Amino acid sequence: MFSRIFVEKSVGHLPQISVIKERFSNTPVTEIDAIEDIFGRVKKPYLQKRSNLQLFLGKKKGTLVKEAPDAYGLAGEPHYYFIHAYNCIYECEYCYLQGYFQSPDIVLFLNHDEIAIEIESVIKRHPDQTVWFHAGEFSDSLALSHLTGELPFYFELFKRNPQAKLELRTKSANIKELKKLSALENVITSFSLSPQNRIKATDLKTPSLKHRLSAMRELQNLGHPVAIHLDPIIHEDNFLETYKGLFDELNEYLDLTSLAYVSMGVVRFTSKVFHQVKKNYPHSELLAAEFHSSFDGKVRYPRPFRLWLLGKIKQLALQSGLREEQIYLCME
Ligand code: SF4
Repeated sequence: MFSRIFVEKSVGHLPQISVIKERFSNTPVTEIDAIEDIFGRVKKPYLQKRSNLQLFLGKKKGTLVKEAPDAYGLAGEPHYYFIHAYNCIYECEYCYLQGYFQSPDIVLFLNHDEIAIEIESVIKRHPDQTVWFHAGEFSDSLALSHLTGELPFYFELFKRNPQAKLELRTKSANIKELKKLSALENVITSFSLSPQNRIKATDLKTPSLKHRLSAMRELQNLGHPVAIHLDPIIHEDNFLETYKGLFDELNEYLDLTSLAYVSMGVVRFTSKVFHQVKKNYPHSELLAAEFHSSFDGKVRYPRPFRLWLLGKIKQLALQSGLREEQIYLCME
């Protein structure tokens, strides 16, 4: 999976380093002073992640917890995200990480104790509110969780802070570590889903819809709160039939009425990422549509069209048994 592992001296003593070294016992390991001395120093083309992916292990410096943009989550409550990794093993053609860093190499930050201190200080600043913390802004929260081993730590943290909520965002079906933990009402695992034909066409290397739905069903049966992001919604011929089929499958696998929430967002890019998509995937079906520069500088479908898409999907969601208050529209 990785051509080389770089380990910062500052984390060399952590038990997780031994676990990772053992798991990749044939991969050469290099000790380094600081991740930033090497990661991204020389621009590495994004698609090199297919053939030459390196792993960096170290400590995140600077701000560890950041305020999330408007409309990031359920309205009316403060939202933050924390950064415990950069980059992702999957390869979605619309991925916002294209061109975000100078390199697609995976970075895992292991100073969770310091992240926890910042999280608790944010919670203290909002004594009368439910504060949300989102993991996975620059990576997938669960895809490598069997290697990184931080989930028990965060479960303990949020057990101590029941007034705050943690969202683990994922496209994986890797729930091995989660299944070992007792469910907490305030720790929600959210799965980004699309119809299977879209997963096949654009969400390269991600688990199939059925694998993700099975994982979600297992978590629901164990009492873990589960949520869904229908994001990004991409238009195609037979769009309504395809999404109707997706809701039928959701109903078959899950108890929709007990989902924590369902968010919906139409495909969008920063202009920089849109440029990268055209460069990396010039034949992608994604590019067949008409895109415009939008009110916030992002590249999107024209507004009436995306409102029509969201309206149609919301209607299907309500017809499938979801309640109005479970649904929110993302980044609109
Ligand atoms: S799962 Fe998310 S982070 Fe990973 S490639 Fe896809 S869009 Fe990017």
